[in-house]
Amino acid sequence: MSGGDDRERYAMGLMVEEMGETLKLIGKALRFGIDAPGPNNAEYQGRTARQMIPLEVGDLHAALRFAAMVGVFSMGDANASEAAKIDKLLNPQSKDAQGNRLAPDVGYSA
Ligand SMILES: [Mg+2]
Repeated sequence: MSGGDDRERYAMGLMVEEMGETLKLIGKALRFGIDAPGPNNAEYQGRTARQMIPLEVGDLHAALRFAAMVGVFSMGDANASEAAKIDKLLNPQSKDAQGNRLAPDVGYSA
């Protein structure tokens, strides 16, 4: 295995781990409430999911940026995809399969 493959494998592993930590946190927010105090353990220290989400999302952003740095994907391509997705979500003409507006109006326009 080349050094590049090792870096990509590491980066993809980190992405999966941080996605998992973010998924776990969002699961707790959905089960117990986003503002419910979390367990008083080393991980949560009694903090709510709302307080923890920026920490885990930050970890995930770092993992994604690291993966782009080692060549797993193009951050430019990801940024273009992100912009297109936001445009779609903000567009009142975007509909779901039932013909309802795709996403709630958040007061921004594309
Ligand atoms: Mg994390």
